[in-house]
Amino acid sequence: MAIREPSPCTGECGRLVRPPNTTIEEWPHTLGHRARGLCKSCWSAENLPAPKPTFRPCEQCGHTTRPKPMKVTDAPEGTRVRVGELCAVCYQANGQVSPAHVAYIRRELDSYLRSRGRVDTKLKEAS
Ligand SMILES: [Zn+2]
Ligand SMILES: [Zn+2]
Repeated sequence: MAIREPSPCTGECGRLVRPPNTTIEEWPHTLGHRARGLCKSCWSAENLPAPKPTFRPCEQCGHTTRPKPMKVTDAPEGTRVRVGELCAVCYQANGQVSPAHVAYIRRELDSYLRSRGRVDTKLKEAS
């Protein structure tokens, strides 16, 4: 019966990877095999999704968008601020408002109503 032995990781680390279905006790100082002769970390380094490009088109209109924290002057001319995967224009056109903004509006409305002694129902009737 042939003994399957650890072999060097086919990834960048070159450390010994133990054969599948063997344990660290059987092969001390080896790494667990993940796939295709790669250890776990080399495998995930190769298979992690590529980072999304900084400037990417709006999913709706295709207009080039820039990340929100970026200064306008650091971005190519004509880019729009990105909200999620949409440009700010499409985002607003869709009537989507960020939860933070909703919370802000609620707070403002609440303090307004409180200052008016909660006369919101009367206001509705009057209008
Ligand atoms: Zn490796
Ligand atoms: Zn758009």
